[in-house]
Amino acid sequence: MWLRRCHLCQRPAAEALCLTCWGQIVPLAEPQHVLRHTPWPHVHLAYAAYEPPLKTLLLDLKYRQARVLGLTLGRYLGQWYRAHWPLPDVLVPVPLHPQRQRERGYNQAELLARGLAEVLDRPVLRALQRQKHTPPLYTLSPEERQQVLQGVFALNPRWQRRLAQQRILLVDDILTTGATLLQAATILADCSQKLISLSAARALIADPLIFNRI
Ligand SMILES: [Zn+2]
Repeated sequence: MWLRRCHLCQRPAAEALCLTCWGQIVPLAEPQHVLRHTPWPHVHLAYAAYEPPLKTLLLDLKYRQARVLGLTLGRYLGQWYRAHWPLPDVLVPVPLHPQRQRERGYNQAELLARGLAEVLDRPVLRALQRQKHTPPLYTLSPEERQQVLQGVFALNPRWQRRLAQQRILLVDDILTTGATLLQAATILADCSQKLISLSAARALIADPLIFNRI
């Protein structure tokens, strides 16, 4: 049987990350936050803090073409999700701008969503479109962020009906300020307010005005 090697420890492994290395990522004791500034409050889940080794993995996924790693992380997240949270009807990844996706060749959030979808046995819909580039948001004030993000996402009309009243799981790789997620969630609210969002990691700079612990 052909075996790949673990991305971190380089030992032969069935997946791109072995279970021992996955086990070294400590899940957050409180994975749930409420995103309040959408038209209705919705729950955001994050698996772990944005620190090594998860940080290393997510950076390699984003910048070093570690595509299989994205699917593997998604599958592990899927097993965790399935054990604790209500099953969604569909998964929607936070999109990249088309130009950035062409440069990179893939959307890391979509790879995570595809791994999750395999375990949850639900479809991934590219229901959101990103219409403009944004600068790194953590350098901006909360007001500037909202201004920059105005109109950044649009709904793909192809999926509008399909999403009506569905329980949507919105997937991203990292939660930083929460502002991007808030914009994406607001667009999806036109279709359904049954929304949960999930990121693999949460940075500690999450804006306290947007997120409150449950
Ligand atoms: Zn390993």
